[in-house]
Amino acid sequence: MENKINKHFCIQPFVNTTTRITGGNYFCCNIKRSTSDIKEESPTEFFNSDYTADFRKKLLEGQKLSECGTCHYQEDKSSNSHRIEYNRYYNILNDQPIEYYHKMLKKLRISELKNPLYSDLHISNLCNLKCLSCNDKDSSKFHAENKQLNISRFPDEDFSVTKAEMLDAVRSVITNDLLFLDLRGGETLMAPEIKRILQNVNEKQASKITLKIQTNGNIVPDEDWCNIFKKFKNTKVNISVDAYGDHNHYIRHPSDWSKTLATIEKLQQQNVKFLINTVVSNLNIMVIDELFQWIQENNYLNYFYIMDWPLHYRPTNLPQSLLDIATKRLQNVKMNFKIETCNKKLEDLITMCEISDQTHWTSFCKEIIMRDNFRKNNIADVIPEITQHLEKFKILLNNRKENNAKI
Ligand code: SF4
Repeated sequence: MENKINKHFCIQPFVNTTTRITGGNYFCCNIKRSTSDIKEESPTEFFNSDYTADFRKKLLEGQKLSECGTCHYQEDKSSNSHRIEYNRYYNILNDQPIEYYHKMLKKLRISELKNPLYSDLHISNLCNLKCLSCNDKDSSKFHAENKQLNISRFPDEDFSVTKAEMLDAVRSVITNDLLFLDLRGGETLMAPEIKRILQNVNEKQASKITLKIQTNGNIVPDEDWCNIFKKFKNTKVNISVDAYGDHNHYIRHPSDWSKTLATIEKLQQQNVKFLINTVVSNLNIMVIDELFQWIQENNYLNYFYIMDWPLHYRPTNLPQSLLDIATKRLQNVKMNFKIETCNKKLEDLITMCEISDQTHWTSFCKEIIMRDNFRKNNIADVIPEITQHLEKFKILLNNRKENNAKI
């Protein structure tokens, strides 16, 4: 067997299926394109398909696959990526000879799995929030707003109902092999059909499965949900929070900080594990230090991702003068996160702020001006320092319109 170094091996397609709101089956949540749909094949059939077998073969050969472009981008920009993290989770080293990965698959007994060990499903877009970085498919509120603004790419779709095929897909992955079930919305806690499926999972299966629920923290879990959380082997509730206090209301609009605190309190009372899940973008990079400080003061478990999509919300898409302010604030944050990799990521974030990349500045300004006008919000409530830059952009835009009108 070749001794060539494999720089692109990823464990995900060997163990995982991801099913998105539109019904597409994927190898992971970082892949953008799909060739499989739950109308034609269940996630488990996709897991056993020729397409998946071919993809795995290419990864084992060390091929750099275009489908994995987001991970390549993350690795170019920082020392981390979804791929690196997933491999680390299975104690698989990176940049090893091809032969090493064949041996690891055998050692971990995952070369001939018939069912996924890990499955994440985006069940419906029914949601009570319209976070700025969201989209039509992930929030019914965002979808409704886009329809009102006449910019929806899916004006005739309704993603808010958990479709029968999706419920079948959820049932199909709950096998005796499943170790992790990751359910996402929209807002997962708003879907009664999913609650019923989880209530019906038998005790034996539940005792082997780690359940992961993604929530925006603005639906305080009721007793039924708390009982579900306690039934599974482990439950991890990921609460999405992008800023401290009222700043979160702007970014994860129109979230209510008091409800986020009530959710945390309820989970603590019920002894349910939770994690604060944060996406770092140019919307919160100027104030993220406050959130990080709050997390560390309360000793919460947290995790953060550096946003790479949509492009105009990448953290570096800000004028350098603003990034310099963000850097100073980030330098005051203690490297005291409970998850060690977050300390390293904080370093990466500070390094990232050294170079502004405003390639997508125009789209950012247009998007913010449009959403603020519609929502009667003002980004200056979160980033007062941005006002003069936005004003400059508006003047430029007006001048352009006037010049065009003259032609
Ligand atoms: S390399 Fe990244 S995008 Fe490709 S399968 Fe792995 S996690 Fe997904």
